[in-house]
Amino acid sequence: MDCIFCKIMNNEIPSYTIYEDEIVKVFLDVNPISNGHSLVVPKKHFTDINDIDLDTLTHIQKTVKDLFIKYKEKLNCDGITLCQNNQYGQEVKHYHLHIIPRYENDGIELKSNIEKLDPKEIYEKLK
Ligand code: 5GP
Ligand code: ZN
Repeated sequence: MDCIFCKIMNNEIPSYTIYEDEIVKVFLDVNPISNGHSLVVPKKHFTDINDIDLDTLTHIQKTVKDLFIKYKEKLNCDGITLCQNNQYGQEVKHYHLHIIPRYENDGIELKSNIEKLDPKEIYEKLK
């Protein structure tokens, strides 16, 4: 399969790997939003949240919990934002969780230009 993250998993493409075990690899994003922006990537190819199994997801979350302590200590960040794109907005179709270290006044924010609907209308669809 022609997947860039599979190639990183197999060390065919180099990466600045921060952590690795038999299930995941964590490496620095090549185009970081903040200093320390990292990707937690399962070694097995899953496309997105629909595809990945719960055991692997749990392992990814545990990895993040451990790394949060490390990033606070070593990068002196003030927090971390986690995000994970699925389908629309997902550039690489191999599941990955972004760890974005946050620093006071870093100016990072989610913006949109949507027309905001009445929340009741959304609620009626989702309930
Ligand atoms: P997505 O938009 O799929 O959620 O995020 C994909 C991320 O992968 C982007 O932040 C992008 O910078 C990163 N990325 C894409 N190709 C490479 C690569 O070859 N090496 C590394 N380290 N990161 C990559
Ligand atoms: Zn892959």
